[in-house]
Amino acid sequence: MTNLADIAARIDGYNPDALEAGHAQDIIRSSIAPIEGWETLTLTAALGRVLAADIVSPINVPAHDNSAMDGYAFSGRDIGEHAVELQVAGVAFAGHPYTGGVKAGQCVRIMTGAVMPPGCDTVIPHELVQSISETAITIAPGTVKPGDNRRLQGEDLAAGTPALRKGKILRPADLGLLASLGIGEVPVQRRLRVAFFSTGDELRSIGEKLDEGCIYDSNRYTVYGMLTRLGCEVIDLGVVCDDPASLEATLRTACETADAIVTSGGVSAGDADYTTTVMAKLGEVHFWKLAMRPGRPMAFGKIASNGKSAYLFGLPGNPVAVMVSFYFFARDALLQMMGAQREALPMLRVASQSAIRKKPGRTEYQRGILSLDDEGRAQVRVTGSQGSGVLRSMSEANCMIVLPHGQGDVDAGELVNVVVFDGLC
Ligand code: AMP
Ligand code: MG
Repeated sequence: MTNLADIAARIDGYNPDALEAGHAQDIIRSSIAPIEGWETLTLTAALGRVLAADIVSPINVPAHDNSAMDGYAFSGRDIGEHAVELQVAGVAFAGHPYTGGVKAGQCVRIMTGAVMPPGCDTVIPHELVQSISETAITIAPGTVKPGDNRRLQGEDLAAGTPALRKGKILRPADLGLLASLGIGEVPVQRRLRVAFFSTGDELRSIGEKLDEGCIYDSNRYTVYGMLTRLGCEVIDLGVVCDDPASLEATLRTACETADAIVTSGGVSAGDADYTTTVMAKLGEVHFWKLAMRPGRPMAFGKIASNGKSAYLFGLPGNPVAVMVSFYFFARDALLQMMGAQREALPMLRVASQSAIRKKPGRTEYQRGILSLDDEGRAQVRVTGSQGSGVLRSMSEANCMIVLPHGQGDVDAGELVNVVVFDGLC
């Protein structure tokens, strides 16, 4: 990692105690290097994985000129200003080409996907033919132009051109595309190993007795879910008490087994929180107070133990804050480590259904519910309580409303930025 302090120094007016969210994202982005190592997987096993090399198409797609419709194929030279009658010389099915000749004044009945017969460059769809008999069809003038309804060889992809680029996260369409090229195995980046644990004396794991003043550890489950959705190999290190020796031991284990570490809790300046001291002892870690809500405290850096090192994301303890910090700071960095192409999250501009109070000078990530109004236009409303511990409203939300640093109060009907939680795939 380029020296974190040097990177931070390049940020105009760097102040770790009131750092703009965008600046923290920039610092993290410039510090991260992708992991090395890849493996070859079969297509089905490669779903969701990051492509480790460009994939060049070995063939033309489609391999031949073929018909885009069920209808009749003929030469565009045969049609003109008057109705024309063409004799049906034969039939072409997908997978069973017509191999005879096609003379002027002839046509071939053809199915979608069938190879265009020799000399034919145009297809008239069945439903546009003026009249059809056993042996001939009549085409009215102006119904099709030469070249219509024909898919050209190599139109989707020409042999020798890249079909998919290194860094692509493989989605269902990509598996299909690779299959259409006859490619059954692809090189993918090895899985990113991420260790995670929760910190806090008050935390109990499911199944344990909930002592007075204690709470169940929920962050480990949300963090597990977010890491798994991202395609990481997760290493669950449980709950660690606010005790320097256990913290150090767990951080060292994490560092020696994982590429990155995600912790929750203990990064604010609480009395019983030793996390910051121990983290700082093991490497170069910055402790930030971000100008954002929810989730102000965050630690980021790189720690080392026994010759192994790992990036560290010390996220806040509050259940919503940990999710927001993960999504808007750790997620991008982990994808970068995974070698994934950088893709900005699609940000929609949607009308807010009601006014939202917002202080300029901090980025706010509010839980929202995106829906369609009676006219089918997108609209968004804030979910119930926005307290940083209220997981229920995070669970009810289907998007985040991102109110940028400089933004003030939002009026009802004003457009706001929205990041949707789930997409089609
Ligand atoms: P901290 O950042 O450690 O001061 O924690 C902030 C708040 O988040 C406290 O109210 C903690 O009890 C709560 N918290 C911390 N870790 C977790 C966790 N793993 N699950 C649920 N709540 C937590
Ligand atoms: Mg704590």
